[in-house]
Amino acid sequence: MPIEIVTVPCLSDNYAFLIHDDDTGQTALVDAPEAHPIQVALDARGWTLSQIWITHHHGDHIDGVADLRECAMVVGNEYDARRLPALDAKVTDGETFDFAGNDVLVMDVSGHTIGHIAFYLPGANAVFTADSLMALGCGRLFEGTPELMWSSLSKLAALPRHTIVCSGHEYTASNAKFALTVETENEALHARAAEIAETRAKGKPTVPSTLAEELATNPFLRANLPEVKAAIGMPNASDGAVFAEIRQRKDRF
Ligand code: ZN
Ligand code: FE
Repeated sequence: MPIEIVTVPCLSDNYAFLIHDDDTGQTALVDAPEAHPIQVALDARGWTLSQIWITHHHGDHIDGVADLRECAMVVGNEYDARRLPALDAKVTDGETFDFAGNDVLVMDVSGHTIGHIAFYLPGANAVFTADSLMALGCGRLFEGTPELMWSSLSKLAALPRHTIVCSGHEYTASNAKFALTVETENEALHARAAEIAETRAKGKPTVPSTLAEELATNPFLRANLPEVKAAIGMPNASDGAVFAEIRQRKDRF
């Protein structure tokens, strides 16, 4: 496998990702919560950054960019450029750019913020979702409406099921507790919750996950399903309304 993905824990519960292409020796970074642990991970492997991809404007995703950028090309959403570190490449939804001979597709996944983007790398079967789709959860809606987030999650849900979902935070254990209040009867969810508890007890990350796992267990991705609508007492509501209700319940949880 020519592309290697390394999960780098940062701050208290953030994840950054290094993507390394062995053939060219190029390395990309997705989000820079802080410079130090990322620099340590790079040095340990003898890698230097060619590109830095920014998902959204929050400090816990960009504060390390200044110290890491050096010669790297910094990529971010043209429409949120005013809130991001200086961009060397401004990209927009649906656009593809090149990383070491691989296509990287930019997807607008607004909702957590307006202008949040995800990066889909078909050549590595991976999507970098930060605070849009998260392991067993989704980001809080600071700027977008529930309808907007639902349409963003629906775009991600349509990617191939074997896609690896590299999201931005270790919130999975508390997400599992909440998810079990929504779908008490979901066997796959119970199994995943047990697995998460075990993984966390060993101090290991639960991120990345796979899209197939998320489709089977993540209540925010499942708002269109009759069993989920029934479980929350909204059998005839629209997908967007059901998503909004689940998101509100999580905010109060
Ligand atoms: Zn954020
Ligand atoms: Fe965040």
